[in-house]
Amino acid sequence: MTVLRNLPLAGRNAVVTGAASGIGAAIAERLAADGASVALLSRRVDRLDDLGTRITAAGGTAYSVGLDVTSQESVDRGVKVIAERLGRVDLVVNAAGVMLAAPIQQGRADDWTQMIDTNLTGVLRLIRAFTPDLIAAAADGGTADLVNISSIGSHLVFPGYSVYGATKAALTQLSNALRADLSPLDVRVTNIEPGLTESELGSHMLEEQQTMLAGMVETIGPLTSEDIADVVAFAVSRRRELNLRQIIALPTRQA
Ligand code: NDP
Repeated sequence: MTVLRNLPLAGRNAVVTGAASGIGAAIAERLAADGASVALLSRRVDRLDDLGTRITAAGGTAYSVGLDVTSQESVDRGVKVIAERLGRVDLVVNAAGVMLAAPIQQGRADDWTQMIDTNLTGVLRLIRAFTPDLIAAAADGGTADLVNISSIGSHLVFPGYSVYGATKAALTQLSNALRADLSPLDVRVTNIEPGLTESELGSHMLEEQQTMLAGMVETIGPLTSEDIADVVAFAVSRRRELNLRQIIALPTRQA
């Protein structure tokens, strides 16, 4: 697409999980606006199609790939489609995630499993699928990025969110540790820890927790998903020798 040739991410092939809403959707839209071809991943294909239509109308390139990151079979199917439609991937953003209030004393093992499968194992599934592409892209002299959307919840503690916090702390540590394997191969790993950000994340919570979240939103004033997309777009468009490996992006009023 000639009109996109001079954009910072022209020629890059990106995969963004969690692209149906919130932070993932904003990142996908921004990467496409900056010239990348983007595969949009999540379970709600109707949402992906709507976003894809918007991106295409703005002159970008996007494909919807419905998949569930908690299912290896579903990921395998999606990865095949991506290889056919997009070709070799050189930018992976893991934004899919769930935050469920699961007070430890209630022992809601299903919720714990859902969070671990989505926020950690799901990320590993995508990393496993695309690491060969990232290494090959870097070996050919291109820029290759793995971006994980962790959370400030990996450092701060919130009552009721110990398992969510543990998944995000694990993701942050995974990002750190992966640099030891991937940075010698010129693949950048960028871990981003947003603070309170407007999205649909709270919509899966119980009413009482939603009220608490609404209070935080009122007092702090959340970031927008576009703020986080802006940070990602900046990090992945630096020259490939510069790795912004850990970024904490907080609303100014969030201590
Ligand atoms: P949203 O709920 O708006 O987005 C979550 C996305 O993940 C949705 O697009 C959802 O799409 C997708 N998703 C969830 N489960 C699966 C699954 N099993 N397979 C594939 N996709 C899945 O919330 P946010 O945008 O806020 O969340 C994005 C990331 O940002 C998360 O990792 C979250 O932990 C993190 N974060 C958010 C903060 C905030 O304040 N909002 C703060 C810090 C971190 P679908 O349902 O269609 O599958």
